[in-house]
Amino acid sequence: MNILEILEAKKRGRELTAAEILFVVDGFTAGDFADYQMSAFLMAVWFRGMTGEETAELTGAMLRSGEELDTSTLTLPTADKHSTGGVGDKVSLLLAPLAAACGLMVPMLSGRGLGHTGGTLDKLEAIPGYRIHLDNLEFLELVEKVGCAIMGQSGSIAPADGRIYAMRDVTATVDCVPLITASIMSKKLAAGPRTIVIDLKTGSGAFMDDLDRARELATALVAVGRMYGRRMSVVFSDMDQPLGLAVGHANETIEAFRTLRPAGRTTGPADLVALTEDLTAEMVRVSGLEPDRDRALARVREVWDSGKAFAMMLNWVAAQDGVLDPAREDFGLEVAPLVLELEAPHDSWLARVNCRQVGLSLADLGGARLTVNDPLDLTTGVDFLPQVGDKLSKGDVLARIFCSDAGQAQAAADRILAALTFSPEPVPAHDLILDRYE
Ligand code: URA
Repeated sequence: MNILEILEAKKRGRELTAAEILFVVDGFTAGDFADYQMSAFLMAVWFRGMTGEETAELTGAMLRSGEELDTSTLTLPTADKHSTGGVGDKVSLLLAPLAAACGLMVPMLSGRGLGHTGGTLDKLEAIPGYRIHLDNLEFLELVEKVGCAIMGQSGSIAPADGRIYAMRDVTATVDCVPLITASIMSKKLAAGPRTIVIDLKTGSGAFMDDLDRARELATALVAVGRMYGRRMSVVFSDMDQPLGLAVGHANETIEAFRTLRPAGRTTGPADLVALTEDLTAEMVRVSGLEPDRDRALARVREVWDSGKAFAMMLNWVAAQDGVLDPAREDFGLEVAPLVLELEAPHDSWLARVNCRQVGLSLADLGGARLTVNDPLDLTTGVDFLPQVGDKLSKGDVLARIFCSDAGQAQAAADRILAALTFSPEPVPAHDLILDRYE
């Protein structure tokens, strides 16, 4: 077997064997063949696609390129959620303790933000002392003891994905369903949960703009998950505007934990609450804890309103050495001192938000990465207040921008204003949950 034969075969659309796919993944990860050969392979896959079996083999080869967590010793059903990424998406910070309070165990590996999308790991780093690097054994011990834990994905998890993703990024081959599927599922399967709920986002703040492509991806993700014996469910959600109000790191963490307080389900941002309880209820239902959807939702609401989930969150953060002051509204997290308010320029309805640009406004404030190693200011952020369909009066506050530099704040404000479309006529609000698939 050699790489040229495999390239020739994929170029002509022949289905590759498991051995050929393993040869490509292992060979590339080991540095046995050149980057230009891997880029030819990726482009051939982009044009020719992959069958379900090929996608599953690619996922398996990437999964086995690194360590897999052994969750078989955990004493309650395990479940996790994966979001395809967006702006203001702090759901994991509420969902992990909610699901644990419902009786699941949640071993969650999270990543960093890149470009306009945020990452859970960066939000957790805004908590003083919080340890994002744990070894696998300690991580699993914490999940067993507390019910949930969230740590950074170390280089030992699916290392092939790291190398292949970097190559896709510079060869215009990111937007390819089999490659995305293998990338997401190799990492999710490595963390070992038996139930995986996918929050598949579409819209201007997501990496997948339209619902048809999202459906194609959902089908592939569910098929691969099932082949690996996992219970799968996909929720399609709108990412055409930020989720909740806060976009940033410290401010998102504060919003998440504030909303998780017992009264937060009724006083917190309605979209954040609705999506969080929906996804958590899916985990509870699909894992078999509570097979009826309405009863699963009732169970989530019960642990939220009773304060059980909030207490679980405090236990989890303390177990990872994070220091929170629950008596304070900001939990003791540092937020940048200057606040610039962006006001509505005229009476109108908010018709459209270019959500990617709102996410990128964080970069103007030093709070987003344009390349993987950029340093981040975790204290800066934006609270974006209106939603599509809202009626605005001239002078209404559209956004509060938190920063330490007035020039940066103005650049962010200009960007946000340019990202908004106003209408003189009423505009319908967006649905948050667009569809489901399992
Ligand atoms: N998220 C991933 O982890 N991989 C992709 O390829 C796309 C989104």
